Amino acid sequence: MERLWTSGGTEQNKALVEQLQHYGVIRSTKVAEVMEKIDRGSFVPDGNPPYVDSPMQIGYNATISAPHMHATCLELLKENLQPGMHVLDVGSGTGYLTACFALMVGPQGRVVGIEHIPELGASSIENIQKTPAASLLKEGSLSIHVGDGRLGWPESSPYDAIHVGAAATEIPQPLIDQLKPGGRMVIPVGNIFQDLEVVDKNLDGSISIHSETSVRYVPLTSRDAQLRGY
Ligand code: SAH
Repeated sequence: MERLWTSGGTEQNKALVEQLQHYGVIRSTKVAEVMEKIDRGSFVPDGNPPYVDSPMQIGYNATISAPHMHATCLELLKENLQPGMHVLDVGSGTGYLTACFALMVGPQGRVVGIEHIPELGASSIENIQKTPAASLLKEGSLSIHVGDGRLGWPESSPYDAIHVGAAATEIPQPLIDQLKPGGRMVIPVGNIFQDLEVVDKNLDGSISIHSETSVRYVPLTSRDAQLRGY
């Protein structure tokens, strides 16, 4: 019988992207293209369904965010993810968004992921190596570091875009300091009730903050607190 459709990962990932476009979560071709190229199947641990719109456990009391949250953050940051720009991904977890950012800013750009669980940092490198962002990792425009992301990563600052993948009780000052004038940070803020806040640093250095939507992320905390179960 002729095979009209294959259930391989690429098709399922494409169907997920189309679903997010249909519901208006992905609004730009730029975000659709990068989410098609970075297959979520390379980031979700074996035994979990990668192409459903839901967060998944990745061990160490952490989760990979749901596809609609990845898409929302990429849409909010896309003007600050132009070729050559600098990006910081705090709590980079599986490395999914880190890989998307790297493809968007390209080889002339710089993307730094910071993750405080060494095992997650190591597995995120393996995940990224399965994607078209592998060459950027090899050439060094994309790097993953193990450390406390609340301190940022001053070496590659100032950043055009900062993404924080875990909820802060308050916005860490080092991250505000490392944002470039004209730069944008997207960060979940709160405890049980959290808002996804968009922090814009204006050209005169002043800060404007607006709340985009209610969200639920794991906390941005110390490694010990996270491994204890918070
Ligand atoms: N965007 C990631 C989100 C992973 S969950 C993804 O979709 O895969 C949030 C991550 O933040 C976890 O991996 C957790 O270990 C990490 N984290 C929490 N507090 C941190 C801190 N202070 N410094 C660095 N990473 C932190």
